[in-house]
Amino acid sequence: MDDCIFCKIVRNEIPNTVVYEDDDVKAFLDITQVTPGHTLLVPKKHVADIFEYDADLAATVFSRIPKITKAIKASNPAIQGMNICNNNGAVAYQSVFHSHIHLIPRYTADDSFAMQFGDNSADYTADQLQAIADGIHAQLED
Ligand code: 5GP
Ligand code: ZN
Repeated sequence: MDDCIFCKIVRNEIPNTVVYEDDDVKAFLDITQVTPGHTLLVPKKHVADIFEYDADLAATVFSRIPKITKAIKASNPAIQGMNICNNNGAVAYQSVFHSHIHLIPRYTADDSFAMQFGDNSADYTADQLQAIADGIHAQLED
């Protein structure tokens, strides 16, 4: 992927601030620093989003999360928590189409990061929920 910005970061063709790197993944500071220490974890292999992962790639990439998140937390005693976000598709706020996982340390709830989970539970009967679950279950692959 010659024109992919994260492939260029993986290849060190553009400046980046590396936090962790091995044969399969790279973690570097997000340029926007939503909070101090905001880090992106990417597979070195170009995949656009979660729908292009197989189980082995997911195991490889996601297995690095505890090591890196613990290091981020240990790096600053003011860190109280961490959001781990993976946006897939423009509708889900993905803007760089090389899969990446945001590791966002939280120092206070009153910062420039926010997530909102609306509560639509009153709109669903148990049968409707079951129908949704059945539809997903029917699509599961081995
Ligand atoms: P997304 O919106 O796709 O979930 O997140 C993409 C992230 O990539 C954004 O948080 C953005 O700040 C970050 N980003 C975009 N371009 C660069 C860059 O050139 N260097 C770094 N370090 N981060 C970038
Ligand atoms: Zn890429």
